[in-house]
Amino acid sequence: MRSDVLIVGAAAAGLTVAETLRRKGFAGSIRMVGDEPHPPYDRPPLSKQVLAGEWEPARAALRSSDIIDALDMRLDLGVKATALNEIDHTVAFDDGTVSEYGSLVIATGLRPRQLPDWEGIHGVQSLHSLSDSLRLREQLTGARDVVIVGAGVLGCEMAATARKFGAKVTIVDPLPSPMLRVVGEALGARIRALHESHGVDFRLETMVRDIIADGGRVAGVDVGDEVIPADTVVVSIGSSPATGWLESSGLELADGVVCDAHCRAAEDVYAAGDVARWYDKHRDAHVRFENRTNASEQGMLVARNILGEELEYTPIAYFWTDQYDVKIQVYGTVPDGATVETIDDEPERNRFLVRALSDGRVTGVVGWNNPRGVRMARQEIVDSELARQESRETRVR
Ligand SMILES: Cc1cc2nc3c(=O)[nH]c(=O)nc-3n(C[C@H](O)[C@H](O)[C@H](O)COP(=O)(O)OP(=O)(O)OC[C@H]3O[C@@H](n4cnc5c(N)ncnc54)[C@H](O)[C@@H]3O)c2cc1C
Repeated sequence: MRSDVLIVGAAAAGLTVAETLRRKGFAGSIRMVGDEPHPPYDRPPLSKQVLAGEWEPARAALRSSDIIDALDMRLDLGVKATALNEIDHTVAFDDGTVSEYGSLVIATGLRPRQLPDWEGIHGVQSLHSLSDSLRLREQLTGARDVVIVGAGVLGCEMAATARKFGAKVTIVDPLPSPMLRVVGEALGARIRALHESHGVDFRLETMVRDIIADGGRVAGVDVGDEVIPADTVVVSIGSSPATGWLESSGLELADGVVCDAHCRAAEDVYAAGDVARWYDKHRDAHVRFENRTNASEQGMLVARNILGEELEYTPIAYFWTDQYDVKIQVYGTVPDGATVETIDDEPERNRFLVRALSDGRVTGVVGWNNPRGVRMARQEIVDSELARQESRETRVR
């Protein structure tokens, strides 16, 4: 069977490609294939509203079935791509079929990293899919001692949600502060204080040595100097791009599918979303983002490039996270060692706004319960980047 556009990965990035193609008037055949059993759904609620039991799973669906039907595409769920033959323009699937494509979009996202040897221990899990979220929700109901391994964004969100169930929550991480890689040390300290004010314990600069099981059930987490009691352990130690099926394809794979500035990995092959590592002209480097906004924006650009535009992808990174009564929004980046300056601080309203400066340049702005302020401050990153480019061009001349 041949499709004019074949999309592998039926989630935010893949669906955006299909929707944008149709919105732009594309009348060719589209097939989208995903290995999960569910129609495309959104991941951010999985660690928040769905996990807390505030939303029923159906509410996480990205679109209603009517809207999906109106896209007039073939949607195959529960089917996994196993190999790409880029020369023949074909993809093989685990149901034994092989499909030909005109253009291929790789939108397979990430797979969570796992601690060696924890699989099979009841009460230990990671969170990436809707099924994971529902299983963890069930476990948190009645849980007494929850240990979260990893103090990244997801680990912190899950800690906040787990506290709603009344469990004692401990976060373990080898780094000195939570969310260090995305907000730096100064803001990490604010996030730590937020969690501590809600009763979360931190074991930072601490490695997990072992997970202790008793009769096949988790009983504790060995961190060297003690065993932290646990009936639930959530492993949140990052994810890796889901590129295993591309290993024999000849595509360049290096922590993602390596693409040019147009998000093209090879002739008629594009990548979008968490799996794509594209050449960003402004940064003069290949970069990969893991956030929801990027999945949509990159999906849109890929669709337009399939239709013959030659757009280059140069986004400003953006992500948000909700923890307790705080919404944290980050535009750009807060590099290691960046200076953090306050733009606005209203402690009585539990909100503030900061900028991150590195080498005299504004690289990021962070809003804490300040959506309007952070949206406006985003321009500082754009202006700083323009000034940097102008000075580079002047030097070249
Ligand atoms: C729990 C959670 C909470 C999050 N919260 C936030 C947030 O608050 N803010 C934010 O900005 N971002 C958040 N993110 C990140 C955001 O959800 C992702 O960046 C976004 O979902 C990426 O979309 P994607 O389509 O690229 O990949 P994915 O959503 O990972 O989808 C890829 C799909 O491809 C499928 N697939 C993989 N391999 C194959 C194969 N070989 N064949 C067929 N199908 C395959 C996968 O099963 C999956 O369904 C969160 C992520 C998680 C997991």
